[in-house]
Amino acid sequence: MQAEIIAVGTEILLGQIMNTNSTHIAQGLAEVGIDSYYQTVVGDNPERLAAVIEIAAQRNDLVILAGGLGPTNDDLTKQTLAKYLNVPLVEDAKTMQVITDHFEQVGREMTPNNRLQALYPAGATPLMNHNGLAVGAFYQSPDSADFILLPGPPREMALMFDTEVKPQLQQAYGQQSQIYSRVLRFFGITESKLATVLNDLIEHQSDVTVAPYAKTNEVTLRLSAQAASKTAAKAAIDQMEAEINGRVGEFCYGRGDHNSLAKVVINDMIAKHLSITAAESLTAGQFQSTIGGVPGVSAIFPGGFVTYANAAKHQLVNVPQKVIDEQGVVSEATAIAMAHGARAQLATDTAVSFTGVAGPDELEGQPAGTVWIGIAYRNQPTVAYEYHFTGDRQKIRERSVLVGLDLLRR
Ligand code: ATP
Ligand code: MG
Repeated sequence: MQAEIIAVGTEILLGQIMNTNSTHIAQGLAEVGIDSYYQTVVGDNPERLAAVIEIAAQRNDLVILAGGLGPTNDDLTKQTLAKYLNVPLVEDAKTMQVITDHFEQVGREMTPNNRLQALYPAGATPLMNHNGLAVGAFYQSPDSADFILLPGPPREMALMFDTEVKPQLQQAYGQQSQIYSRVLRFFGITESKLATVLNDLIEHQSDVTVAPYAKTNEVTLRLSAQAASKTAAKAAIDQMEAEINGRVGEFCYGRGDHNSLAKVVINDMIAKHLSITAAESLTAGQFQSTIGGVPGVSAIFPGGFVTYANAAKHQLVNVPQKVIDEQGVVSEATAIAMAHGARAQLATDTAVSFTGVAGPDELEGQPAGTVWIGIAYRNQPTVAYEYHFTGDRQKIRERSVLVGLDLLRR
């Protein structure tokens, strides 16, 4: 059992205050028999805080964060942690009552930002603050390290740690072994294919169990391990994941219970500052609606085109009339011209296009399910790929959107 303490606060970095919080927590951890090999100090900066959370979670069973739970703009610890955990912040009713009572008692009006002090990451156990207003939290995670959130003011932190945290640590990490699990997400491979390729790993069930689940349009694998510590269980899972990736890694698009292909692809594009647009015929905006569901997409998505009729393909994204007349709309040339034209219109890095037969009737002599997807990327030659999807109209359109996303990932 191994823990890291992260003290959050620019004043500590600048040497304006002594980091007495970490000292206090370190002594307490030693008393309950939890090893601690690292202590980190980071300023009130969300990117750097996110980076140290990630590193600490990788190398520990438990991460204790102290500071930055207050109501002001520079207090970002729980927001950053919630983002890392992919969970929303929720309000602790008890703390909210304490905050409301407090402002009533002192006869001051409560400003909205004071509500922030009652928020904690969903799924955590709230930790009461008997010397202040900001609630703490103990988040026990099945697929990452556990986290504890403590307030920065030493009086508040110390009382919360001694009375709330220490007993819970003893209870949570007493003697029983730790379970760790990880979900791998696959697209473009069926459950039966996956099960065949990984048959020995699934059947053998060594110290890591591997269980496939078929979902709509994708397959997930849950890897679980039980060991004396989370770090040990995680190491076993890392090894199993490497083995699986060696066999079917190209189909694995991400990890985690709450991820989706759209989220993974769009977040990756946001991180790389790659902008995107789309010209959609048979999907009629469904691709754009899907990426619109990912928070933060506005940074890379200026807008796009629904080019259903031939005239709209010509008017909105400059598909030459000649291409439509000679090749038809369900064609490589039209898909390429749509992607190329969309990218040119909005000067994005990438553009994707969808043209095909959603059905139920055939079009231009081609059966329902025939779909061309075009991809334009910077100055590289625009390309298009042909697919033959099965299923009804909705299924064909949905499948087109997902395959478009998958092409962007590659
Ligand atoms: P507040 O509601 O007061 O803003 P907070 O949880 O947001 O609380 P911080 O803003 O990080 O906590 O810190 C509040 C004060 O607590 C700091 O100005 C400092 O005096 C003290 N403090 C913070 N971190 C530490 C630390 N690691 N060691 C000692 N004192 C600390
Ligand atoms: Mg503060």
